[in-house]
Amino acid sequence: DTVTARVDVVMRELEERCATTVGKLRQLADAMAVEMHAGLAAEGASKLKMLISYVDNLPTGDEEGLFYALDLGGTNFRVLRVQLGGKEGRIVRQEFEEVSIPPHLMIGGSDELFDFIASALARFIASEGEDFHLPTGRQRELGFTFSFPVRQISIGSGTLVKWTKGFNIDATVGEDVVGELSRAMERQGLDMRVNDTIGTLAGGRYHDKDVVAAVILGTGTNAAYVERVEAIPKWQGLLPKSGETVINMEWGNFRSSHLPITEYDQALDDESLNPGEQIYEKLVSGMYLGEIFRRVLLRLAREAALFGETVPAKLEIPFSLRTPIMSAMHHDKSPDLTVVSTKLNEVLGISNTSLQTRKVVVQICDIIAKRSARLAAAGIVGIVKKVGRARDNAREGGSQLPRMVIAMDGGLYEHYMIFSESVQSTIKEILGEEASDSVVIKMANDGSGIGAALLAASHSHYL
Ligand code: ADP
Ligand code: MG
Repeated sequence: DTVTARVDVVMRELEERCATTVGKLRQLADAMAVEMHAGLAAEGASKLKMLISYVDNLPTGDEEGLFYALDLGGTNFRVLRVQLGGKEGRIVRQEFEEVSIPPHLMIGGSDELFDFIASALARFIASEGEDFHLPTGRQRELGFTFSFPVRQISIGSGTLVKWTKGFNIDATVGEDVVGELSRAMERQGLDMRVNDTIGTLAGGRYHDKDVVAAVILGTGTNAAYVERVEAIPKWQGLLPKSGETVINMEWGNFRSSHLPITEYDQALDDESLNPGEQIYEKLVSGMYLGEIFRRVLLRLAREAALFGETVPAKLEIPFSLRTPIMSAMHHDKSPDLTVVSTKLNEVLGISNTSLQTRKVVVQICDIIAKRSARLAAAGIVGIVKKVGRARDNAREGGSQLPRMVIAMDGGLYEHYMIFSESVQSTIKEILGEEASDSVVIKMANDGSGIGAALLAASHSHYL
């Protein structure tokens, strides 16, 4: 019938526009590596900011004492404390608390946001049990992971480049966020040293020496990796003894003519808080997948009457379909797709769908999630190529490729199984079975927060 025919047209076009052939992914991986070089060469030379973190002491496992961390993500905010017991004791105990950030604070003033954070931290400290020991006379030391682009001036200070992921707090751009948070802490009567961090990488390295990079696939997406200082022409000032430093790529802002961008992506970007920016993030990360999905459904409802004669009102509301809902529908294993049916009803008020319609819905999830996963895989291969080539040069010819571990964090990768399986299989597809054996993705089991505490430890003023 005509509905089916019109649906087919839209679906075929979607599939075509979202196509990510292995050839295209290889071009993207190469483009990522090229942009990495450019961003390291000079400030402003690439869409990738390649921010120098001044983190040159990654944790070794010898750290001891009580440390704290703050992790401000796109959705959640975590505070944690960890008691480290040195080489033998490792992580003796840890506790954390997670608070979701009230939406009005994401678009309000910076004082409100930072006061909210500082008071949550104060409450957390007040609840400290006796099994956590802070020697008398010692200040609390805190690592702070901030998942927005920060240009660091030193390990303890950094200015915010821009907000991303639905945050829009004007007053803070260009200001020293670490300093601001410190001031908010002082307003709460807290005495803490704060340093900004590349937590996931540090957390990964603490557990595994072969960790060379960290990737976040959560509300937003970003990556950081360890670079040799001689490969950073834009570096000014003293070089660290270790000869290495951590680079915060800010890869969410990556952009390339090879990226498969559809009309849905274009419209999403145009209507976003940051048009023209974070294009890769808008194709890949959890904040946006459900929204792209919604836009495809809306077009099908309007042009092909996929849900009957009227367009469901809730489908018109931006961000009404979140990625966890999309993921639940995508994983529906029941023969008649009951989960899809229930979610459509609960979330969008759409009832009485045919099995054929529900199959179309799942197919859209599949196209969008896999495009995202495959693009993320291409980015990872880009880093592997950049890091691997340097290691190739350093290594005697003929030996096996060195093991390279990518520490992974983020709710999208952690909970969306079809997505994470696709990331892994696509890395194999791009690199080939043999080369990909030496690339391991490890879920950073305690997330970026603990890494921040570990960095507070490896940069401790008392060690
Ligand atoms: P943050 O980005 O705030 O640090 P997380 O790393 O926990 O937080 O990521 C949260 C994001 O992960 C959500 O915005 C959502 O996009 C995605 N996510 C969470 N749960 C699921 C799920 N079950 N399926 C798919 N995506 C999910
Ligand atoms: Mg996070």
